[in-house]
Amino acid sequence: MKATDVINDLKRRFPNEPEYIQAVEEVLTTIEDTYNEHPEFERYNLIERLCIPDRIYSFRVSWVDDKGKVQNNMGYRIQHNNAIGPYKGGIRFHSSVNQSILKFLAFEQTFKNSLTTLAMGGGKGGSDFSPRGKSDMEVMRFCQAFMTELWRHIGPDTDVPAGDIGVGGREVGYMYGMYKKMTHEFTGTFTGKGREFGGSLVRPEATGYGNVYFLLNMLATKGIDIKDKKVAISGSGNVATYTAKKLLQLGAKVVSMSDSNGSIYVPEGLSEEQLEYIFKLKNIYRGRIREFAEEYDCQYFDGERPWQHVKCDIAMPSATQNELDGDDARTLLANGCFAVSEGANMPSTPEAIKEFLNAKILYAPGKAANAGGVSVSGLEMAQNSQKLSWSAEEVDAKLQSIMAEIHQQCKIYGEEEGGYINYVKGANVAGFMKVAKAMMAQGIV
Ligand code: NDP
Repeated sequence: MKATDVINDLKRRFPNEPEYIQAVEEVLTTIEDTYNEHPEFERYNLIERLCIPDRIYSFRVSWVDDKGKVQNNMGYRIQHNNAIGPYKGGIRFHSSVNQSILKFLAFEQTFKNSLTTLAMGGGKGGSDFSPRGKSDMEVMRFCQAFMTELWRHIGPDTDVPAGDIGVGGREVGYMYGMYKKMTHEFTGTFTGKGREFGGSLVRPEATGYGNVYFLLNMLATKGIDIKDKKVAISGSGNVATYTAKKLLQLGAKVVSMSDSNGSIYVPEGLSEEQLEYIFKLKNIYRGRIREFAEEYDCQYFDGERPWQHVKCDIAMPSATQNELDGDDARTLLANGCFAVSEGANMPSTPEAIKEFLNAKILYAPGKAANAGGVSVSGLEMAQNSQKLSWSAEEVDAKLQSIMAEIHQQCKIYGEEEGGYINYVKGANVAGFMKVAKAMMAQGIV
């Protein structure tokens, strides 16, 4: 297999899908050598079957807004690969959602889920509907309309969605309610559900906490203590806020957060009270991060991401894809940043990744560092199947051991001469090998 040939062919067949091509390119260029050590993979044209999703559903979602006007959005579900378990991956509601973005996310999810050590295939779904500025009733009507189509394609052993950007507990609850009504069944088809109807303890915290646990594993390889380290975070949603919460518990200083309108800079670090304010601002009042800057009189950079403005030891991008580019990476490095652990999916551009790898800093790609969320989703599925509910301590302990195991797999497959761990290569090769072996065993299907 020549990675460039496969990528050029995919570019020709899917010319309008840059994010999908970007994700495939990153993986293929790092697994090429390993793949070519297995001539049987090439005989089965495994790589093309792994890159192209098993199937894609796309559909119109029509709903009525509060003014009585009929709105139409697009809905999608990408079922990428189920070689090692049912399709599993979140649902994203954001105005930018299109097939390319969901295909990149579903592709990444396949490798991430493989890394978790649990039995989950890869999928992703969503809509170009944005919950921002919508009333509760509008969000509910949209979620219900979305589910009247999606319900027939998912199930506890088929495809298990969860949240992502724009989809939190409220949206999962509305979608699950409609799913239950359509199927006449109470099953664990969604994860990230409310506690009262099968949701796992620690699922809301899992992606952020898991990212910090992964970071601790990376820091331990260098004997570095997290205490008093300055950490720049982007985003102020689910992943960002729980990342910040765990960092504060461990004595680190969170110096920035952001949203799609701008970023705040607090050089001395957020207090617990300030973080609580952001949590309420975003989840209850559904306000903007600018309002935090007004309340606490701190620096606010309108329309800008944190990276050019902050001095930090560690960066944890936790908002969206391609939010940290080559210039941002160079500025972070020049300012002394020695670790980057990605909460978001593919937040660093290829140029930024190159900078981090060349500088040989600790750099963890999202598919390893943010796998805690889907891991606890996997634990939620296990609890639902057993009709049991585990304690927060039990789930958190399992999360910590899964993140340590993912780190170990990255080390096994990514350690280079001289001891540097290339986490990009490690995560991609480890994730790939498990899926590849399962696909080989199951024949050409
Ligand atoms: P949320 O919707 O809770 O929060 C997203 C945050 O990112 C918000 O602060 C939002 O700002 C900001 N944001 C979204 N789009 C953009 C953009 N185009 N430019 C700048 N800022 C933006 O989502 P999550 O926290 O759940 O997800 C964040 C990232 O983490 C995503 O990449 C997601 O795929 C990834 N992830 C999430 C997991 C989970 O369990 N939730 C699991 C693994 C990965 P605003 O409020 O202005 O929209």
